[in-house]
Amino acid sequence: MAPWIPILMYHRVVPVGRSAVAPANSISATAFDAQMSWLSRRGYCAVTLDELVEMLGGGRSAKKPGRNLMLLTFDDGYEDNFHCAMPILQRYGYVATIFLVASAIGGDNAFDAAYTTERVRMLSAKDIHSMRNVGFRFGSHSWSHPDSLSDLNDGDLRDELVSSKTVLENLLQEPVLHFSYPHTRVSERVEAAVAAAGYVAACSGVGTHFSPYRLDRVETAAPGWLAEVEIGFRKLKYSVASFTRRSPGDALARP
Ligand SMILES: [Zn+2]
Repeated sequence: MAPWIPILMYHRVVPVGRSAVAPANSISATAFDAQMSWLSRRGYCAVTLDELVEMLGGGRSAKKPGRNLMLLTFDDGYEDNFHCAMPILQRYGYVATIFLVASAIGGDNAFDAAYTTERVRMLSAKDIHSMRNVGFRFGSHSWSHPDSLSDLNDGDLRDELVSSKTVLENLLQEPVLHFSYPHTRVSERVEAAVAAAGYVAACSGVGTHFSPYRLDRVETAAPGWLAEVEIGFRKLKYSVASFTRRSPGDALARP
């Protein structure tokens, strides 16, 4: 069984007053800080997607054996990841992987117009370089953030995957090997196209898959210890799903 570790999924981290409610797709800075504090107190160590891919292939993580491992991810690439999330993460010695909408770098969230009327800034090339310089990693979240990659024809699908990869590689001057599905919508055809475009791993939504091109994640906006409940619940669901998936094969293998 693949070594499951929690991959936490975030979008925006926003400073809001004590009584204000964070907008959709957001976690308040206070709740986010409480989660990082809890993970830190529990000895959680953040791995990179490269390290996770190596572990999935049977390799061992270079991180301390016995430490709790996790991966922090952000989708879309909002400017608040730089101004709000990064200072909190740095306080706990954590880095994260951010999946960028390549066409939105330095612009706003117009790609999300069907879901929100609020216009917010996205990370600029300068922000991205600053974050990369202190260890943050970047992957692709497609070129234009289509509603569902599954709805695209083969040519458009390939364009979304390849053009974003090329733009990000030119920006970062390094291979971009990781992807995250817009709106977490994925199918076997999309997984195959992501692999064909040269990515080695892709993050998906909340669920019980844990293979290189379908790394399901844990999402919680709850503060502190409630994140533990969510992580524990997801781990249990994964264990049950793995056991169920494995059972028919095991039965056939019996003499
Ligand atoms: Zn997205």
